[in-house]
Amino acid sequence: MTFEAVIGLEIHAQLSTASKLFCRASTQGGAPNTQVSPVSLGLPGALPVLNKEAVRLAIMAGLAVKGRIQERSVFARKNYFYPDLPKGYQISQFEYPICLGGEIVLPVSQKTIRITRIHMEEDAGKLNHIGADGIAGATGSVVDLNRAGVPLIEVVSEPDIRTPQEAREYMERVHELFVFIGVCDGDLDKGSFRCDANVSIRPIGETAFGTRTEVKNLNSFRSVERAITYEIKRQIQVVQSGDVVRQYTMNYDDATGQTTPLRSKENAHDYRYFPDPDLKPLVVTSDQIAAIAQKMGELPDDMALRYQRDLALPEHDIMVYRQSPALYRFFEKARSFLQVATPGDMSKWVVGELSALMKEQSVDLNDKLATELARLIDVCKEGTISTQMIKDILPQIINGKTVAQALESGGGQISNQDDLMTVVAAVMADNPDVVAKIKNGKVASANFLMGQVMKQTQGRAKPDTVRDLILHACQNV
Ligand code: ADP
Ligand code: MG
Repeated sequence: MTFEAVIGLEIHAQLSTASKLFCRASTQGGAPNTQVSPVSLGLPGALPVLNKEAVRLAIMAGLAVKGRIQERSVFARKNYFYPDLPKGYQISQFEYPICLGGEIVLPVSQKTIRITRIHMEEDAGKLNHIGADGIAGATGSVVDLNRAGVPLIEVVSEPDIRTPQEAREYMERVHELFVFIGVCDGDLDKGSFRCDANVSIRPIGETAFGTRTEVKNLNSFRSVERAITYEIKRQIQVVQSGDVVRQYTMNYDDATGQTTPLRSKENAHDYRYFPDPDLKPLVVTSDQIAAIAQKMGELPDDMALRYQRDLALPEHDIMVYRQSPALYRFFEKARSFLQVATPGDMSKWVVGELSALMKEQSVDLNDKLATELARLIDVCKEGTISTQMIKDILPQIINGKTVAQALESGGGQISNQDDLMTVVAAVMADNPDVVAKIKNGKVASANFLMGQVMKQTQGRAKPDTVRDLILHACQNV
C-alpha cells in the first residue's frame, strides 16, 4: 500500500513591537527577569492593557495573507500549568480570532495553501535547565520571564500540505511575507518565527484524514522538512506493523533528526477556554482596517509582478528583493534619482556588489547613498567611467564620499590623454583589421578596441576619452 501525507502547520510569529502584548515591559530581552512587569509576572491585581501596535501588526499580517479581518474578536484564557506561565493561563484568542481565512501561494508549484485563521496570543516564559542541555538529566531549572507576554500571532493552515518540501516552502513563504511587510523580524535563532507541524498519513485514494500527531517547536526551515519526513516514515511503519497511529504530541530532536512522543495529545476542551473577563472584546472599525491596509505598502508578490513587467528585472534580482526588504526599499529610493541609466542598470549593482559589501561591513542605506549611487550608475551610463570604476568608487560612497569627490581624488581612473593614447596606439597596432573596419565606417567596431584598452588598464581608463581617441586616431591612420 502506498501512502500520502496530510500536513497542517501552526506558525508562531513574534510581532515586532517595542513592548509586550498587555503591559509596557520591553520585548528586547536582556539579563533574565529584567524585562518584566506585574502583568507579565502574573501578580495579583495586575490588569492587562492591550498593545495597540500589536493589533495593527496582526491586522497587517491578516491582510497580507488576504484573510478577512474580524471587526470583533475576543481574548480568551487558555488554562494550563507550567512553570514558565505564572498566571496559570495564557491569553489567546479562541472562538473569535482577529482574522479568518486567507491563503499562501507556493512559489514553484503555484499551489494554494489555505489559511484557517490567525489569532493573537502572548508568549510564555522560558525554562533554562541546569546541568544538561534539555530537561532530561538536568539537576534543576530556572525560569526567565523576559519572554512572558511577548506578542505573537499564530497562523493556522488548513491541512492542504502534502509533502515535507511543500511544508518548508509554505513556512519560507510566510516568513518572507511577514519580514517584508515588517510585522516580524523573522529571527529564527531567537525564536521569533517557529512552527508546529500536524502530520497524518492515509492510503492514496482515501479521502478521509488519518489520525494526526503534532510535532512541536520546529525553529528552522530545515528542521520542518526533516521532522516531517521522519514523522511520515514513522507513521507508515506503525501502520505497516499492524498498529494504529495514536494522537500524540511529538518532540523533535534536531541532533538525531527523530521525533519522539512527548504526551498524548490534549484537546481544546481540556484547556477550559473562556473569554478573559479582564479584557473587553477587541473592536476595530472597517475604516481603521482600511487605513492600515493603505499604509501597508506593496506586498512582495505585487512587487515581483511590477518588477517583471515594468522594469524587466531578472528573476534573481526579484528574489533578492523579496528576501531583503531593506535592499528593496533602498533600490526603490535610489532608482528614483536615476536620470540616464535604467533601473536594470542599477539593480545589478544593488543585488551584486552592494549586497556583497553589506555582508562585510555595516552599510547605512540612507538617502545620501541612494543619491550618490544613482549618480555613479548614471555617470557610467554616460561613458564617463567604466564599470570597474563603479566597483572602485562604490565602497568610497558607502563610507561617505560623494561621486564627485571620489572622481576628483583620482580614484584610480586614468583620464590623462597622453597616458591613454600610448595604450590606444598599442591596441590599434595589434588589431589592424579592426582599425580598417572602423575606417570604412563600421564605428561599432570601436567597442572591441575599447574593450582591449579596458583590459590592459584593468578597467581604469575613462571610457569616453578612450572612444574619442580611437575614433580620432582611426581618421588619421
Ligand atoms: P489543535 O488546536 O488541537 O492543534 P486544530 O483543529 O486547530 O487543532 O488544528 C491544528 C492544525 O492541524 C491545523 O493546521 C490543521 O490543518 C491540522 N490538521 C487537522 N487535522 C489534521 C490531520 N488529520 N492531519 C494533518 N493535519 C491536520
Ligand atoms: Mg495545535
